[in-house]
Amino acid sequence: MTTELVLLGTAGAPMPVADRAGISSALIVDERVFVIDCGRGSPSAFADAGLDFTRLEAVFLTHLHADHTGDLAGMLLYPWGVRVGDNGPLAPIRVYGPPRPAVLPEGDATFHRDTTIRPELPAPGTADLVDSILAGYAYHLNVMPLDARMPDAGALVRGIDIPVPARTEGITEVPAVVFDDGAVQVTAVAVTHGRAVPALAYRFDTADGSVVFSGDTTVNDDLIALAQDADILVHQVADLAYLERHGTTGAALQRMAALHTDVTEVGGVAERARVRELILSHYLPAEPDAITNAEWAQRAGQGFSGRTTAGSDGLRRALPRVPS
Ligand SMILES: [Zn+2]
Repeated sequence: MTTELVLLGTAGAPMPVADRAGISSALIVDERVFVIDCGRGSPSAFADAGLDFTRLEAVFLTHLHADHTGDLAGMLLYPWGVRVGDNGPLAPIRVYGPPRPAVLPEGDATFHRDTTIRPELPAPGTADLVDSILAGYAYHLNVMPLDARMPDAGALVRGIDIPVPARTEGITEVPAVVFDDGAVQVTAVAVTHGRAVPALAYRFDTADGSVVFSGDTTVNDDLIALAQDADILVHQVADLAYLERHGTTGAALQRMAALHTDVTEVGGVAERARVRELILSHYLPAEPDAITNAEWAQRAGQGFSGRTTAGSDGLRRALPRVPS
């Protein structure tokens, strides 16, 4: 068996930046491909990595902010034509992610919205998102098969909401089993990402080892429990002091701190989780020339006795990693 991690994109935040793609990762297990988040440029990064769209089995969304979902439509629609085998359409791509939240969060005096888009369903979940992509692209899906041989559009994708366990203060969350076919087990816990509720972290276990994806979160005990003794923890990282020096201050800075794990904290997370390797991703600031990889790794690795790697687009890591 082989299990390999590929970082498809490592940028944080929705704003496009040069020379770094939006957040997306892939885990390849014996040629089966699982994608975690579909940020900006992820279909192109998938091709650049030499991955096979006929092997794409499932997508796991950590939460429904656009920097994690914006290129989901492309990930489904661009390779549609190859999603066919000798016996008809391939099995649908399964898209797992958060369900509709129980309530639409309120804002406050500083941060609020003026217009509520789609008030009848203002916070659609993952299955709703997939249905909306199909509905929005109905023209393409209904018309293109009249001019080119295409697989049945009805077999392209299935959106699946993950039942997120209710959290009880002070009690470690029992991870939800999202996927388990004997070869690959995926479990998830809810993490803390401001008003983006629910937001999820995922753990993948195979015979080769384990990889955990933090999603976007503040320091979170349930994530640390989920990641316990994992081989690799792919964790988001923010440099809040950098953001402050560049004009994010006051309430805006406090809000950022309620959304993300800072570079001064992430090494402690990895240490408490006792993972073998911490791989940084989803950088804030996202611009590659803002902070060098060497500086990210050096600062984030403080307090962590394992190996810290500053992830970059295209980074690959086979499991089990050969000790260095
Ligand atoms: Zn994000």
